[in-house]
Amino acid sequence: MSDVSDLSNDNAVYRTLLESTRAIPWKIDWATKKFAYIGPQIEALLGWSPDSWMTVEDWAMRMHPDDREYVVNFCVAQSQAGVDHEADYRALTKDNGYVWIRDVVHVVRNEQGEVEALIGFMFDISERKKTEEKLLALQKELEALSFKDGLTNIANRRRFDASLELEWDSAIRLRQPLSILLFDIDFFKQYNDLYGHVQGDRCLVDIAQTLSLALDGPRDLVARFGGEEFIVLLPGADASVALKVAERCQRLIQKQAIVHAHSPHDQRVTVSVGVGTVVPDEHIKPSQFLELVDQRLYLAKKNGKNRVEAEPVTG
Ligand code: GH3
Ligand code: MG
Ligand code: MG
Repeated sequence: MSDVSDLSNDNAVYRTLLESTRAIPWKIDWATKKFAYIGPQIEALLGWSPDSWMTVEDWAMRMHPDDREYVVNFCVAQSQAGVDHEADYRALTKDNGYVWIRDVVHVVRNEQGEVEALIGFMFDISERKKTEEKLLALQKELEALSFKDGLTNIANRRRFDASLELEWDSAIRLRQPLSILLFDIDFFKQYNDLYGHVQGDRCLVDIAQTLSLALDGPRDLVARFGGEEFIVLLPGADASVALKVAERCQRLIQKQAIVHAHSPHDQRVTVSVGVGTVVPDEHIKPSQFLELVDQRLYLAKKNGKNRVEAEPVTG
């Protein structure tokens, strides 16, 4: 403990303490907007010597242009209001790089309550920012993965369900139709038995790609619904558009001409399609509509496969 009378010695201690921390202390005189002090550590971090920090202008100009306006406005407003605050920004280094800084600011007032000075610490948070950015990128990647089918790279069932829910609500609001096409590959068990599972997988990838190419609406979505079943969501499409898209898909798959020696349809891989169109309202749920489309797919199978079934199911 130091003696109260030994003030000059105390000052030296405080200075040593301030200048040996990793946080960089500074003080700005509010009336003149000039730096009264900045810790010498600033030079090691950014390359700018302490005496090159003259005014708040220097501080503002040594900030990434994308951060400048927001950070300066925020800090000035908080300081004027006399509120302690902190801000993260990218500070310019002398060799034209950037370092992420967190500036923690305390507003000093005089006895009249007027702002007299700002005292703060700059912290180097670049490591933390890097970790944050990596985590964010990882999170995005995971989100993307959780909505994608691992084999075919198109949307998975989860993504389809989420999109259907959104489009369903929007169709109710806008009183617009919405169509669904449900595809099932014909004789696929035999395809696997004949050519093996690996080639079966390849066939699924090819069909997924073809279906993706067949769609052109900005909100159209193709997803893998299950094993060898694919589903297409056509927001805004009425029955005639839906039928056209279904037939285009079927045609493109035919054109792809994937050989299937045990298929009675020209010895090619074919699909059966159930098509449904609805103008959703409160009386029907998405699951009921899906059920109806599934029944049409069943009908397409029953009526000989390699066909589109779009007629209303009766009886
Ligand atoms: P149908 O013409 O009536 O549609 O008969 P199908 O043989 O296509 O239908 P079924 O439901 O009897 O068999 C579907 C087959 O799809 C069974 C399964 O081995 C195969 N399958 C499902 N998922 C995959 C997959 O990821 N890869 C491969 N290679 N085959 C799959
Ligand atoms: Mg099936
Ligand atoms: Mg099948």
